[in-house]
Amino acid sequence: MSRGDMAKPLLDHRSMEGDRSITPAAGRTIGVLGSGDFARSLAIRLVCSGFKVVVGSRNPKRKAGLFPSAAEVTFQADVVKKTDIIFVAVFREHYSTLCDLADVLVGKILVDVSNNTEINHHKESNAEYLASLFPACTVVKGFNVISAWTLQSGARDGNKQVPICSNNQEAKRTVAEIAQVMGFTPVDMGCMSSACEIENIPLRLLPAWKIPIFLALGLFLCFFTYNLIRQVIHPYIREQKNKLYKIPIEVVNTTLPCVAYVMLSLVYLPGVLAACSQLYYGTKYRRFPDWLDQWLQHRKQIGLLSFFCAALHAVYSFCLPMRRSHRYQLIETAVKQAVEKKMNIWVEEEVWRMEIYISVGIIALGLLSLLAITSLPSIANSLNWREFSFIQSTLGFIALVISTLHTLTYGWSRAFDENQYKFYLPPTYTLTLLVPCTVILAKVIFNLPCIRHRLLRIRRGWEKGRYVKFVLPSATGEYSSGETSSNV
Ligand code: NAP
Repeated sequence: MSRGDMAKPLLDHRSMEGDRSITPAAGRTIGVLGSGDFARSLAIRLVCSGFKVVVGSRNPKRKAGLFPSAAEVTFQADVVKKTDIIFVAVFREHYSTLCDLADVLVGKILVDVSNNTEINHHKESNAEYLASLFPACTVVKGFNVISAWTLQSGARDGNKQVPICSNNQEAKRTVAEIAQVMGFTPVDMGCMSSACEIENIPLRLLPAWKIPIFLALGLFLCFFTYNLIRQVIHPYIREQKNKLYKIPIEVVNTTLPCVAYVMLSLVYLPGVLAACSQLYYGTKYRRFPDWLDQWLQHRKQIGLLSFFCAALHAVYSFCLPMRRSHRYQLIETAVKQAVEKKMNIWVEEEVWRMEIYISVGIIALGLLSLLAITSLPSIANSLNWREFSFIQSTLGFIALVISTLHTLTYGWSRAFDENQYKFYLPPTYTLTLLVPCTVILAKVIFNLPCIRHRLLRIRRGWEKGRYVKFVLPSATGEYSSGETSSNV
C-alpha cells in the first residue's frame, strides 16, 4: 500500500451512505431559536461538540451573557440567514410568533424539540403543527427526550438514545449525524406520523411497571389484612389485648416477605404455564394467550419488586430489636424467669431453627440481589446468552428454592399447632407456600427425562401431529401414497 493510500480513510461517508455527498456534521453552523433552559444547554453541548452556534432571541443583548462566549447570540432573523439547520427551542404556543420569519425560513431544516404536558394533548403532534405553519421548510422531530440537564452533563450521564423522525430522509440523516457527533445514539423512528409517539415518550409514567406495581400492591393489601386480623384484631376480640402498636413494624414485616416470596414465584409461574401449553399442544408455534404474553414480558419488573420487598424485609428485621416494645418484652420474660427460678431457657431445636432460618434468608437475599443487578441493561449487555440465562433462570430458581427453605424453617411446626389457627385462619406462611411449591413441583416434573426430552424437541421446532408424506408398496407391488403423523 502506498503512503498516499494509507493517508486515505478506510471508509469514507460515500461508501457508507451511497452516492450522496455529505458535509461532515462537526464544524457546521447550527442555529437555535429561543434562549431558555433547553436552548442554553443545547448551545453548550453543540459548542463542546465542535459546532458553530448562533442563538436567536427576541432580546439578544439581555440573553447573551447566559450563553458560552463561543456562541453568537443575535436576533432570530439573523440566525435564519446564517444557517440551514435550526433547532426550534420554544414552546408550541409560541410557534406562531415565528411566522414573520416564514420567507427567510424557506428550504431550511427545522428541528422540533418540543414536548407537551399531557399524552396526546393536541390532535396533531407539535412537529406536524410546525410543519403546517412552515410548509416550505423540512421539519425533523428529535431531541425532545433529552433534558436540558442531560445535554449539559453530557450523554454519558443520561439517556443516550434520541428518537428522530421526518418525512425527509436527507434532513433526518443530517440531524442524526449531529446527534451522533454530540455523543447520542440516534434512533430512526420513520416518518413524521411517528412524531406523536416520540412526543409521548417523556410523558409516559413507568409504562412497563404498572401491572407489576398493581400486582405487588394487591398482594400487599391482601397479606396485610390477613396478618392484621391474625396479629391485632384476633387478640383484641378474644383477649381484649391492645396490639395496635404491632401495625407499623411487625405486621408490615410479616407482610413484606410474603409479597417478596409470592412475587418471586410469579416470575417463574408464566414459564411453567408456557411449557404446559407447549406440551399440551405439542408445538412452540402456537401463540400464547395475550395475558400470558404480557405476564412473560413483565417478569423482570416483577422480580425487581420481589427484590425490593425482600430488601425492605431485611432492613425491618434488622431493626426489630431496636423497638421499645421488644425491650419491654425481653425484660418481662427475664423477670418472669427469675420469679419462676428458671435458670436454663436454652431450647436446642429453637436455636438451630433460628440459625438456619436467618442464614438461608441471607443467602436468598444475596441471590435476589444478583438477579436484580444482572437485570440492569448495562450489566445484562455485558453477559452472553448462556451467562444471562444461567443467572436469571438457574440461579433464580435456586433463589426460589432457598426462599422456600427460609419460609419452612420460619414456619416450622406451626402449621400443625391448632393455637396458630386464629379465627380458623391458617398461619400466613402456609398460604404463601402454595404458588412457589406448585412452581417448584412443576419444574421438577419438567426435568424428568421423558418430559424434558419432549419439551426440548418442541422448542427445537418439532410439532405433534405434523403430517408427512409417505410412500408404501401395495400388495400388487404398486406404490400407494398417503399421510401419517410424524410423531407416531
Ligand atoms: P424556556 O426556558 O421557557 O424557554 C423558552 C424560550 O422561548 C424563551 O427563552 C424565549 O426566548 C422563548 N419565548 C418565551 N416566550 C415567548 C413568546 N411569548 N413568544 C416567543 N418566544 C417566546 O423553555 P425551555 O425549557 O428552554 O423549553 C424550550 C422547548 O424545549 C420547549 O418546547 C420544551 O418542550 C422543549 N424541551 C425542553 C426540555 C428541558 O429540559 N427544558 C427538554 C426537552 C424539550 P427569547 O426570549 O430569547 O425569545
